Amino acid sequence: MKKRIPLSTPTMHTEELGFVHEAFDKNWIAPLGFNCDNFETELCAYLGGDLHGLSLCSGTAALHLAMKLAGIQRGDIVLCSDMTFAATVNPVSYEGGVQVFIDSDPETWNMDPVALERAFEKYPQAKVVVLAHLYGTPAKMDEILDICRRHGAVLIEDAAEALSTTYHGQPCGTFGEYNIVSFNGNKIITTSGGGMLLTKRKEDRDLAFKLATQAREPAPWYQHELIGYNYRMSNVVAGIGRGQLLHLEEHREAKTAIFRRYQEGFRDLPVTMNPYEADTRPNFWLSCLLIDEGKGDPMELMDLLAKNNIEARPIWKPMHMQPVFAGHDFITAGERAVNEDIFRRGLCLPSDIKMTVEEQTYVIDLIRSFFQ
Ligand SMILES: *Cc1c(COP(=O)(O)O)cnc(C)c1O
Repeated sequence: MKKRIPLSTPTMHTEELGFVHEAFDKNWIAPLGFNCDNFETELCAYLGGDLHGLSLCSGTAALHLAMKLAGIQRGDIVLCSDMTFAATVNPVSYEGGVQVFIDSDPETWNMDPVALERAFEKYPQAKVVVLAHLYGTPAKMDEILDICRRHGAVLIEDAAEALSTTYHGQPCGTFGEYNIVSFNGNKIITTSGGGMLLTKRKEDRDLAFKLATQAREPAPWYQHELIGYNYRMSNVVAGIGRGQLLHLEEHREAKTAIFRRYQEGFRDLPVTMNPYEADTRPNFWLSCLLIDEGKGDPMELMDLLAKNNIEARPIWKPMHMQPVFAGHDFITAGERAVNEDIFRRGLCLPSDIKMTVEEQTYVIDLIRSFFQ
């Protein structure tokens, strides 16, 4: 096929430009302004929790501020999701914390509560847990929250991939003391680049705001008592986000339809799709498959797709396997590392919502031919 089928790219509508135009018309281009304020209010209203939003230049910046709010100090042990994008865990290092990686369970591909409990037995001093919801599938939140509560630990929830996902009816991004979402270009909605910090307490939002705007003290001159950052989102970019938010549910429905078509198309193949628990509603940001043991190499399948101008990607390489985190502890529930197995047998499939049914059928047929 001639046209490239990408993994996941931005899908724009018309309202985005309207909000951007408004910023131009009012000559309100510079950081902070009505689009940022409204974007925060609108996203918090969408999530429905009692939350305070702070729009920032990236999800990574939001995670960094979350680490600061959680009070991570040099040498502190932080219990982290292992199978995720590096941006989930890099900010722990910015603050001098030490990541201990927690294996996933096979039912959600997310942080395994059994492994987390074992980690707390080994590191009872740990006070912060950083959890990501992989590919928009929610983690086992009831169990994880219960463990955090029992050990007096604070939860930082990385819902960068899970905006519009719900767990037992509650949206991801509302479970932690500090939560983040991302509007990077490949996410379910985008601002071209950006993120939001969502805090339970207004004081935390206020402190994060100060840190994100160079930590200016209220004084006529530039007065500083803390080290600050330049992390705010621009008023122009926030306008794109406001327009995108109007289409979030529609994007989620399109992603879900893509997942279902793959599921149907692979019914008799030696593969399974990325799993999720009952009473959860993933946003299906990326559809992934897992090849049955010994039934094929996902890298060969990826090459076959690439030859046909179709973009697929390996599963996030687990953090405990990354050279930069060599020497960091990794805690599993049992003997085998679930994440190493998923990484070895899994593949992310094209999940772009502009992909037509015809194009997806072509992808499915190619994958079927691989297993013939
Ligand atoms: C995309 C992503 C981030 C980082 O967000 P940016 O806005 O790109 O900085 C963090 N965590 C996860 C799990 C992500 O997928």
